[in-house]
Amino acid sequence: MHGKNNENFKGIDITVFKYIDKPIKYENFGFDILFEEKEQTDKDNKITREDEDPKYEEGKKTKRFVEDFVDDTIICRSILNYWTSSKNNGYFKSRRIIEDWLLDNCQFFEKKYPGSKNKTNDPNKIEQNNSNVTFLLERLKYLSLLKSRPIESKNHFETQEYSFTELGKLVALLLKYNGNFDDSQLVKEIYTQTLKYYETQNSSFALFCMLFFSNCYKRDSRLFALVIILNLLHIIKEPPNNKDAVLNKLRNFPVVYDSEALFKVLINSLNEFRALFSDDYNKVIYNLKLGIESDTEKKCKNLDSFERLRLGNISGLHPIVLEGYCTACNRYTPVIIESMFSYFKESIKNKDNRISMDCPDCEGENTVSFEPLQELDYKS
Ligand SMILES: [Zn+2]
Repeated sequence: MHGKNNENFKGIDITVFKYIDKPIKYENFGFDILFEEKEQTDKDNKITREDEDPKYEEGKKTKRFVEDFVDDTIICRSILNYWTSSKNNGYFKSRRIIEDWLLDNCQFFEKKYPGSKNKTNDPNKIEQNNSNVTFLLERLKYLSLLKSRPIESKNHFETQEYSFTELGKLVALLLKYNGNFDDSQLVKEIYTQTLKYYETQNSSFALFCMLFFSNCYKRDSRLFALVIILNLLHIIKEPPNNKDAVLNKLRNFPVVYDSEALFKVLINSLNEFRALFSDDYNKVIYNLKLGIESDTEKKCKNLDSFERLRLGNISGLHPIVLEGYCTACNRYTPVIIESMFSYFKESIKNKDNRISMDCPDCEGENTVSFEPLQELDYKS
């Protein structure tokens, strides 16, 4: 065993490390383990391999890109597939998942032991791979995709057994999704699992997300697939490759609305939320307000005036302070939008333009303009 510095193992159960024989670096434990592709020596070649896939769009001679993942990524994806295939909610040990699932269903093992259906060698195969599989199970646990509990093994060693978390199940289903929004069965499964995951989050915003997602899905399951599923995938796939950043972004799902249809769903959901859970509604609106104002602050050109106007409006829940540019006064000026909802509405109307309003300083008509809201980040 290498890398004995405990600082590197924060958040990981030390007891399993007697089974792990390779050095690990804590800072490398990110969601990239699910997407890491083989590097090509030839730079002209894309990392992804173009393959003819007969099942893809039958009748058309379309090629699709097949990802060529590194071995650990293949194994991790297969571990997650263990849940999507078995829906087994119980606990399993590393040796058990190798024997029951990976040896027969994981592409890595199929390649390593080609054509071997002979079970007599299984104990050897399990021993050969147990250290690495345990290491990968711990990585998935570190990402909150698995949970574990200690258990005493036959030879009285303490070892761990694992089980999938709601997030782990969600990620497993997301990885199965290949962009086909007509796969209504899978879209429905992802929808159901998304609600289960957000239910575990215990916050006003998570509660709102559940209502919003459910209204999206009820309006049109394809809308849910196109917007919510793709955004969830985007969050786990995009850098920074930092576990906490990803989990935080999932918890604070960006309320996107890039179409009129979705905007209506958002507004209806907010109104419904207000009627159902008025306290939680206030918390969510307040946080949205803080999010928008803090985004404005980051880009602010006239910070002193902006800060003053913002402070003067701390008591109102709905009004928000933004910064616009007045073409009559030729300067940046903070403005109050009386209702967050009217800002949403104007943003939809002026998606590709700037929103304009009268100048509070020179009273110029529609001389102040500012950017429409592109995406509603709950907290930045
Ligand atoms: Zn002006």
